[in-house]
Amino acid sequence: MQVLKFGGSSVADATRMSQVIDIVLAAVARDRTILVCSAVSGCTDALIALGAETDPERKAAQIETLRRRHHAIAQRLFTGAERREMVTELDGLFEELAAAPVGDCVTFGELFSTRILSRKFACEGVSTQWLDSRRLVRTLGGIVAEKQTYENIFAAVGAAPDCRLFVAPGFIASDGSGRVTTLGRGGSDYSAALFAAGAKASVLEIWTDVPGIMTANPKVVPAAVSIPDISYKAALTLAENGAKVLYAPTVKPAMEAGIAFSIRNTFDPRHPGTLVSGRPAVKEGEWMGVTSLTHADRGESVVCLVGEAIAGRASAAGRIRAALAEAGIQPLGDVTGEGDAFFIRVRPTVERAAVGVIHREFFEARAVTVIPVFIAGYGAVGHELVRLVGLSAERIAARRGRSIRILGLSNSRRFTVDLRGVAPEEAERRLEGGESAAGGAFIDAVLSCAPRGAVFVDCTNDEQLHDRYAELFRGGISIVTSNRRSLALPYVQYAALKAEARQNGAFFRYDTTVGNSLPILESIASDANCSDGIEAIEAVVSCTLNYIITGYDGARRDSFAKLLRRAQDEGLTERDPRTDLGGQDVLRKLLILAREAGVPLEAEDVEIVPMLPPEFFDCPLEEFYRKLAAYEPQFVAREAELDAAGQRQRFVASLRRDPAARLGYRAEIKMQRVGPESPFYWISGTENVTVVHSEYSAPLVIKGAGEGVRLAATGIIKDILM
Ligand code: ASP
Ligand code: MG
Repeated sequence: MQVLKFGGSSVADATRMSQVIDIVLAAVARDRTILVCSAVSGCTDALIALGAETDPERKAAQIETLRRRHHAIAQRLFTGAERREMVTELDGLFEELAAAPVGDCVTFGELFSTRILSRKFACEGVSTQWLDSRRLVRTLGGIVAEKQTYENIFAAVGAAPDCRLFVAPGFIASDGSGRVTTLGRGGSDYSAALFAAGAKASVLEIWTDVPGIMTANPKVVPAAVSIPDISYKAALTLAENGAKVLYAPTVKPAMEAGIAFSIRNTFDPRHPGTLVSGRPAVKEGEWMGVTSLTHADRGESVVCLVGEAIAGRASAAGRIRAALAEAGIQPLGDVTGEGDAFFIRVRPTVERAAVGVIHREFFEARAVTVIPVFIAGYGAVGHELVRLVGLSAERIAARRGRSIRILGLSNSRRFTVDLRGVAPEEAERRLEGGESAAGGAFIDAVLSCAPRGAVFVDCTNDEQLHDRYAELFRGGISIVTSNRRSLALPYVQYAALKAEARQNGAFFRYDTTVGNSLPILESIASDANCSDGIEAIEAVVSCTLNYIITGYDGARRDSFAKLLRRAQDEGLTERDPRTDLGGQDVLRKLLILAREAGVPLEAEDVEIVPMLPPEFFDCPLEEFYRKLAAYEPQFVAREAELDAAGQRQRFVASLRRDPAARLGYRAEIKMQRVGPESPFYWISGTENVTVVHSEYSAPLVIKGAGEGVRLAATGIIKDILM
């Protein structure tokens, strides 16, 4: 069971109600739901005014205004007979309102809104039941009789096991003598929490018009940002001290029932909002928000700064005083600390200014932008990436002002998505308990829920996944990939993908596809050592081949075949190592390098001289290894010859300006002999070297480790944060 609550601005008119309907229909598809709703915005104020109106004519006019407003909604949401029935029902309620005792008027707003929604869902074919909160939520002496209320709700929901959606008015209740009453202004949030506790719901979502609880009231502090996670206690302190987004009494029932609840934005349903829970994902000593309350009677305002498990209170009081003093604001008396909150009394005329100053001091300097990330691929690289995100989170936040939050993860079999974030240390477990990823279900899920600014990471070896990149871009989702295939597609397809990203304001980064985390592509793309185009690029970027070639010493230790086997066993080669030996993998890298340099190179433009004759390539793998062993004497001979000449050989991919070539550049992949004057001579193991030549300056040489999952993950993180 889940409870979704929508506030007045979420149901202000038919258009907004339609958004609510979409959100609720999606929720109902997941689980049984209780929908709790406020009155349409402004309605409760109007009803209070109505109750106080003594002139009968003016009262009738005010009722008429409200009636028109609700009729207008019915007109838009219903047609035909359904519309007539809805209008009749509303008119009945308005007649009751006209005859109601003065004090009861205020309770009608929620009846109007929920009757409309309840009927609408029934029309949509959802098995729906309207619940009369007046009979279920009971108060005694002005406070909610929780035990009885919970029993009533539990029984009401239990009595209709086949009902998928219950619709209940918020705010209203009845007292010990059965008379209708309310839970106080803003009380619908509280109603929702009572329904959640009573129905033993596992999910409670409070949908409003801002993205959750924010570090300050965004109307006062435009730089306020939403708080992803907060404890019940800190949320309660904020609510009690002026944060209007949450009605303070809401917290207690949720906290006692252990229900973590989220506060979300109806107008931006993809935003994860704020999760209020007993175990929030925040560090001790973290500041949560600043809020304020005006006490007109006392001629003062109290500004309140709230944190989680704050230590070192004295220094915070000092910081507050210093920041206020610098802004010329004189507090009325001392800064006082009480638990995890600090209170500062100021004159009401400087209340907003004081909130702004404290927000700047405690939140703006270190504001951290959360980057939502979905990761496809949980092999060696994906696994390391998740681990590293957890390990380096603090460092990244401190140095870059950013934090990466994993919202979804998939391997080839399963996936898991959670807009609140998947903790790195729980990733494995969450994935095991995840849903089937068959048929591209992970991408479907990402497309349906990715928040703004989301990044999709492809660290799979999947040959087809890039077919869906364009869709992701169209959904405004950026892509970071370490999967070379999408970049080596025919140029038109490659260019179309890049254009799709650009047009949708997304980015497409793939720096790890050549030279792992070495800054090769970014140097080429940014013309790091030439403003007039590149003369030539030469790259020794096959870790596999470098490992074998630099490790081979003329069979003194190991034969060539044995080295290759070992490389394959260590996961250094493609599945069939001949993809490396034949230059196919280097070809992909050369295409990427060239295209990054602005040359629309195609595979056909590249002349490849494989390391071995053709008969090595069209036989089964085991036969290949036998042939390779038989070929050993030729390797030995070549090695001796190289030694005598003081040379080494390297498998070099090159792109060189050549007016005679199709694109003005000649592209080759072949073995080359190099002497000690070449940077290629000096590599060992899996090291990579890329040399970028320009006409006017000395070549740029980028050399470093080209292999390793740790580096691959580092490079992906670099791409995400760039
Ligand atoms: N409609 C009520 C009010 O305006 C309750 C609510 O919106 O939560 O106070
Ligand atoms: Mg409200």
